[in-house]
Amino acid sequence: MIDDNVRASRQTADQRPELQISFEFFPPKNDAMEERFWDSVHKLAPLKPRFVSVTYGAGGTTRERTLRMVSSIKKDTGVDAAAHLTCVGASRDEVDAVVRGYQAAGINRIVALRGDPPEGVGQPFTPHPEGYQNAADLVAGIRRIGDFDISVAAYPEKHPQSESWDVEIDNLKRKLDGGADRAITQMFFSNGDYLRYLERARAAGITAPIVPGIQPIHSFKQISSFAGRCGTSIPAWLAERFDGLDDEPETHALVASAVAAEQVTELLDEGVTEFHIYTHNRSPLALALARILGRRPVA
Ligand SMILES: Cc1cc2nc3c(=O)[nH]c(=O)nc-3n(C[C@H](O)[C@H](O)[C@H](O)COP(=O)(O)OP(=O)(O)OC[C@H]3O[C@@H](n4cnc5c(N)ncnc54)[C@H](O)[C@@H]3O)c2cc1C
Repeated sequence: MIDDNVRASRQTADQRPELQISFEFFPPKNDAMEERFWDSVHKLAPLKPRFVSVTYGAGGTTRERTLRMVSSIKKDTGVDAAAHLTCVGASRDEVDAVVRGYQAAGINRIVALRGDPPEGVGQPFTPHPEGYQNAADLVAGIRRIGDFDISVAAYPEKHPQSESWDVEIDNLKRKLDGGADRAITQMFFSNGDYLRYLERARAAGITAPIVPGIQPIHSFKQISSFAGRCGTSIPAWLAERFDGLDDEPETHALVASAVAAEQVTELLDEGVTEFHIYTHNRSPLALALARILGRRPVA
């Protein structure tokens, strides 16, 4: 029998003040997208996230836009903003110049990543001849420049290029031991994968937070195609829930909301207190999830 008294998801927000959320956005490509971006930022900022982050386009293609967006978010909303940064295809000097640019703009949070080669996600990675070798090397480089809050990536189903769990966890440990403050996970849909990853990390002596990256399913078709490329599996039960809903947007949205709510409720009940929500620059599902986590807008 379920005992509601012992479930964290049945506590009120003031009974779990340690709860933290963050939201991830991508830099808009045109005016229409920019309008949706700001609409979402302005709807989510009053939920007082710990930070919102803005991604860095493949190979640095959004360098200026990422910087412009994080700087404006901080100025416009007062919410702390984190800039993503990748080291693929760039020399150390070029990457360091971007870090100094963030520093000069008052951005003190970086999500430090290796990035993927131009041939695509999962293709072999060759570092730039004068570049950082991987994300761990990049973290060390950022630390040499300044006192940033650094997040790195973690993969509950293993990064496609990690040959074994030992390689995966060793790499995560190198990034955290090298000065990162927390890891944020790739999206996953089986909470068991995340909880087993946590166990593996803790067994290897990793104590830093490993924050689950929650992907609300705005479009099952798009998410399942992206999942295939980045090594996230789509469980059969999840595919079954969205089966036949491509042309039924209302039911699709309701199922997506139920699926995401179920995922965070289970994680809350497992003792998870920090969540990173991938917004895809849309606010409705992120707002609903934040509400389930007990967040209300603060004027
Ligand atoms: C939260 C999050 C945010 C992201 N944001 C962005 C973004 O803004 N822009 C973007 O382009 N991409 C982004 N990505 C994707 C990321 O760039 C890719 O997943 C990339 O393939 C790996 O980056 P990493 O930082 O995890 O690399 P790393 O930690 O360097 O690891 C990559 C792989 O290489 C292996 N490896 C590392 N060092 C060694 C070594 N010395 N010897 C052998 N193997 C090694 C690791 O085991 C792992 O399999 C994000 C991913 C996540 C989870």
